[in-house]
Amino acid sequence: MTEILLLDDDPLQLKLLARTLNSLGYKQLLGCSSAGAALSALNAPNRSIGLIMLDLNMPGVDGIAFLKLLAERRAEIPVVLVSGEDERLIETAARFGASQHLKILGSVPKPVWPTELRAVLERWEAPASVASAPKQYPGEEVARAVLHGEFIPYFQPIVELSTGALVGVEGLARWQHPTDGLVMPSQFIGVAEERGLIRDITRAMIRACLKQGHAWRDAGLDLFLAVNVSMDDLGRTDFADYVFEELERSGIPPKNLVLEVSEQRFAQNPDAALATVSRLRLRRITMSIDDFGTGTSSLAQLRDLPFNEVKIDGSFVHGSSSNAILGAIVNSSLDLARRIGMRTVAEGVEDGADWAAMRLDKCDHAQGYFICKPMAPDELPGWVGSWDNRRKKLFEG
Ligand code: C2E
Ligand code: CA
Ligand code: CA
Repeated sequence: MTEILLLDDDPLQLKLLARTLNSLGYKQLLGCSSAGAALSALNAPNRSIGLIMLDLNMPGVDGIAFLKLLAERRAEIPVVLVSGEDERLIETAARFGASQHLKILGSVPKPVWPTELRAVLERWEAPASVASAPKQYPGEEVARAVLHGEFIPYFQPIVELSTGALVGVEGLARWQHPTDGLVMPSQFIGVAEERGLIRDITRAMIRACLKQGHAWRDAGLDLFLAVNVSMDDLGRTDFADYVFEELERSGIPPKNLVLEVSEQRFAQNPDAALATVSRLRLRRITMSIDDFGTGTSSLAQLRDLPFNEVKIDGSFVHGSSSNAILGAIVNSSLDLARRIGMRTVAEGVEDGADWAAMRLDKCDHAQGYFICKPMAPDELPGWVGSWDNRRKKLFEG
């Protein structure tokens, strides 16, 4: 019979937790009031512990030290953190556990409520997730796809927060694989960068996005087009000229092109890119720092490269209205960008709360599932109509 091991130095807490677990139908419990007792139970050949519920704040071997001991034993038993400590500390402990390859199922705050406990325990009882990491493609196959022109852009709308008006779209690469269907960028961009193929993908994307932009313009939709470029692209001396030629060919005004460079991928030595970025900016192309806040040298990038837009990473935006730390990060990033005259975009606006928070913070533009998921270009005109209706409601209420 598998048991749940409860580790807490406070006997009253042990009793309360046991009672709550009982009320949820979990009867096979083993309470321990010290790390030593818990370790002996784990070592006992006649016991089978299926889950550990661990208090963080204990004298002697505390919860974090206990996680370390579990990691040394290469324990595969899932762990739930139970603690009255503040959320950040619990989160840090959970991250530490995960970094030690422990299976941290989640955490429950003290006092423990049955509903919260049940939610975590459901995760324990759920059959092991069958979702495996998405397939990565070998370089040869990516190279073949480049030759066959199998990369196409999907588009995600970007709207103005003060009015809700559609102002632009970001082109996101999709691979139309001959047998596997639509393949996502996480499955091929990394390989493409390693194998020196990103230059071809970027060029295909710029060309396709500008061509689509031209078609929308003819249909009366004047949108800016944001395209992701790699640091490798900026390091090439012919890149700026390529962009100028493509702009000319498409008839799209340079101010309607935005080139986004992910901050995570900035090279250690940005010197090579300086000339390219400056030349692009001289022609009034918008240069955007993507995933702002996730890199290691955000402020140095701001200082050294003449970018004029900041895209605050979705991992800070989503949930920022209910998490004081995220809120402070977003707020001060926006303030910083504004002070130096940069345009601001919030990505990862997933729900109404994110939307309201970004409006309150006076961010310029928003992008995210709340507005629309990335879509095929022919879906955009239909979406524009439905957004008009939603927009009216959003701005009336
Ligand atoms: P990114 O540039 O930060 O693009 C935003 C990603 O977030 C997109 O994923 C988009 O689908 C997703 N997203 C949009 N709204 C939301 C939201 O509300 N919540 C959440 N959780 N996610 C949202 P996608 O299309 O899978 O692209 C992933 C990344 O791959 C991009 O991140 C970008 O770094 C890279 N990528 C995509 N296309 C290209 C490309 O043509 N060239 C290069 N170099 N990189 C590309
Ligand atoms: Ca981007
Ligand atoms: Ca991002």
